[in-house]
Amino acid sequence: MEKKEQLYEGKAKKVFLTDDPELLIVDYKDDATAFNGLKKGTIVGKGVINNKMSNLLMQRLEKAGIPTHFVRELSDRETLVKKVSIVPLEVIIRNIAAGSFSKRYGVEEGKVFACPTIEFSYKNDDLGDPLINSYHAAALELATEEEIETIKKYAFGINEQLKAFWSECGVTLVDFKVEFGRLSDGTIVLADEISPDTCRLWDSETGMKLDKDRFRRDLGNVEDAYTEVMNRLMQHI
Ligand code: ADP
Ligand code: UDP
Repeated sequence: MEKKEQLYEGKAKKVFLTDDPELLIVDYKDDATAFNGLKKGTIVGKGVINNKMSNLLMQRLEKAGIPTHFVRELSDRETLVKKVSIVPLEVIIRNIAAGSFSKRYGVEEGKVFACPTIEFSYKNDDLGDPLINSYHAAALELATEEEIETIKKYAFGINEQLKAFWSECGVTLVDFKVEFGRLSDGTIVLADEISPDTCRLWDSETGMKLDKDRFRRDLGNVEDAYTEVMNRLMQHI
């Protein structure tokens, strides 16, 4: 597989074309950002962990019947994926109140919901990724109503799979963000990544944060937390 010119450089990954028009190579960086790019830093070794973790979790989800963009891991930081046209929605599932949900609704972090919730943000950096509902998303033609139904079904399915898996690792899945895309034939698949950058993961015993909140909130031991959660995953996958 030949790596061709760079298509895009994002905050956490670079995306390259290949000699196959249906395939891309994603290259994970150690760069970390928060608050819509306002806070910048480096988490040493993050790219390697996020690449591997995302690939292992996506392969698990595939086995559970959720289609993903994953094709093959190429190196520590590089993965071959199916090229998609990204649906510009950040799909957020929550099992426990935290972060922007706690702030917006004035609920303490850690309140466990009776049922998981879903919300969408419009993926648009200039607008600061505003919260959007599914009717607005359909009106703006970001996705069809049918695509939104599929995305919701997959997102809740992903939550059930990941919640159960992380629980085996002694980790509580608090919330996460996923992105979906369309293959050239219109099929909706899970794309982007699933990692401590995009999930809130708390130690089930101590409640210790094992995710990007350590960077966002200057809690220290950021690299240790990424390494710890990766080790837990490797012991149970
Ligand atoms: P951001 O764009 O938010 O800074 P990243 O640094 O993670 O994020 O960049 C990766 C970009 O690649 C994201 O915009 C993501 O939507 C996009 N992407 C992820 N998977 C695919 C895929 N399979 N095909 C096309 N684009 C993808
Ligand atoms: N998230 C993400 N990218 C974003 C915004 C959120 O991956 O641009 C993830 C975040 O890591 C958390 C979940 O989505 O696991 C919910 O985040 P929240 O809305 O609470 O936002 P935050 O507190 O990060 O601003």
